[in-house]
Formats: sequence, C-alpha cells, structure tokens
Amino acid sequence: MDWQPFPKVELHLHVDTSLSYEGVAQLDPSVTREEYQRSFAGREECADLADFLTGVPRLISLQQTERGLQMLIQDMFRQLAADNMLYAELRFAPLQHLQQGLTPTEVVRIVEAETERAARDSGIEARLILCSLRHFSADQSMETVQLIDQFRGSRVVGFDLAGDEAGYPLTTHLEAFRLAADRHIPITSHAGEGAGAESVWETLELINPPRIGHGVHSVSDPALVKVLKDRRTHLEMCPTCNVQLKVFPSYAEHCIDKFHREGLSLGISSDNRTLTPITLTREYEKLEKTFGWTKADFLTCNLDTLEAAFLPDTRRQELRRELIERYEAL
Ligand SMILES: [Zn+2]
Repeated sequence: MDWQPFPKVELHLHVDTSLSYEGVAQLDPSVTREEYQRSFAGREECADLADFLTGVPRLISLQQTERGLQMLIQDMFRQLAADNMLYAELRFAPLQHLQQGLTPTEVVRIVEAETERAARDSGIEARLILCSLRHFSADQSMETVQLIDQFRGSRVVGFDLAGDEAGYPLTTHLEAFRLAADRHIPITSHAGEGAGAESVWETLELINPPRIGHGVHSVSDPALVKVLKDRRTHLEMCPTCNVQLKVFPSYAEHCIDKFHREGLSLGISSDNRTLTPITLTREYEKLEKTFGWTKADFLTCNLDTLEAAFLPDTRRQELRRELIERYEAL
C-alpha cells in the first residue's frame, strides 16, 4: 500500500532535531550532503545515547537567530507536507536557543509566528509544545511553563519533559508540573524510553499525564500495561527511533503491535527526522510490512491520537471528520 496519501496525525516530533539536509544547507551552505550524513544525521543503529546525540550541538547552533528559527519551521512544514500531515504537534526547548542573544520570549514569539504563517499557507494544522529537559534546573522548567502561560491563546499549547531520563530525576521538575496543572496547561512527559517500567510508574504517580512519550518499557510489567489501558493514557510511540537506540533488538520485537492489539491508546510518531532517518510515511510502511497493519489499524491509531491532541474540542471534531472522510475516500 502507498501510505503517503493517507492523512496523518503526529504528536511527538522534536522540531529542533528534524532539520533535513536542504534545511541545514540553507542555513550553512558550506555543509555538503556527505558532511550532513557524517556530522548531523544519526546512523541506523547507534552505539549508545551519546553516539545518537553527536550531531545535536551543531544542529542547535544553526537555530540561534530569527532567520535560523524561521527556516527551521519552514523546513519542518515541507517535511510535514511530504508526509501528507493533517495535524502535528511540534516540540522544542526554547531555552536552548539563547546562544546569540535572543531572549526566551523572542524565541517563542519567532517560532510561534512562523508556525502560524506556515500552518495557514500549507493548510496543515499545527500546535507547539515547549519542552524542559531532565538536566535543566527546577527554575528553568518553571520558566518554560511560564512561557507557555505567557503565550496562552497562541499555537503554544503544552509542556513536555524530555532529555536524559536515566541520568536525571523527575522530582527536580515537579514544581513546574504543579504550575502547569494550576494554570490548566496540558502536559506530556517522556518516560519508559531511556529507563524502565519503574520510571513510567513514577511518572504516573507523581504527575499522571494524559500522554506519555514512548512508555515502551512498560511492556515488561503487565500490571502497568493494565493501568495505562484503564486510564486511557495515550502513548506517543516512535518505533524506528526506539530500535535505533536499541530499546528493542529489532523492529519485529517492538511492543507497538502488542499494545495496539491489547487496545491501548497509542499514536505513531517519528520523534525526530535528522538523528533518526525516517519519515512518517516510511514508518507506516514498516508497520504494514512487519506487523501487517491495515488501513483500519492506522485509522484507529490516528483517531486515538487526535483524541489525545492538545486541541480545543471543536477543532478536534472538525479534524476527526476530515480524517474519516479522507480515509473513506482512499
Ligand atoms: Zn522525544
């Protein structure tokens, strides 16, 4: 099946690590395609997380000016269009873009304005999630939540905690999650990717987010899988990225199919497009080839994903109708 024409919903996409070669070359014309492959893009299989993250500092260094951030969003929307995206939530950590004098507010204003423009021009609906990172301080996480509050009513809609899950505790960031709850800011959090099922339990107990980034290590604990199912906690799943980081020995051993068959709410995402050599269309092809997923499987996942999106209900229902109509027409 050619999955490209199918409308797609993607909630877990780090825009700052998704620059294509064309995007990088626009920002730094000295970079050749070979150098992009060598210095920016991740290998199909990485030795470890450090190996995976090799290209990140250079990527981020290209995103420190108004033009750099605008190009980043334009490049992302070209990729979303190629995947026939219906709705995407793009995430990034604003405090990583201050190296050349932009303030956090300026960073968010630039990215939000460019997202607004690109979404209108392309017809692809989009929202922004601001991330804090595990190694950030409590104050930096608080500042990130305050930025979301400051941009209330714009395309900035939610808060995420990303970064090195195994190396840094969730507890540092609890005050920020409390502030988000206070201000009714939707949250998601990476858990059960770089650390085990206990990390997902901790996340549920301490912040109980409606969505979890990855959550794949939950597969080792049936009681946890039951809780995720009973609570309808939505898992933002990125199989290719997980295999690249050796969370599973092979694509066929990834838990996404098992979780889907058991009725968990889950969505399909690419995570990032520079470090992980993947598009969402390709991810669909792999799910079909490996697990025999059909149109009905992808429709279920996309509807569950829309249900978990950080969108107002009226807009959610419109997109839901459009998704179903376009699936029926294909
Ligand atoms: Zn992620």
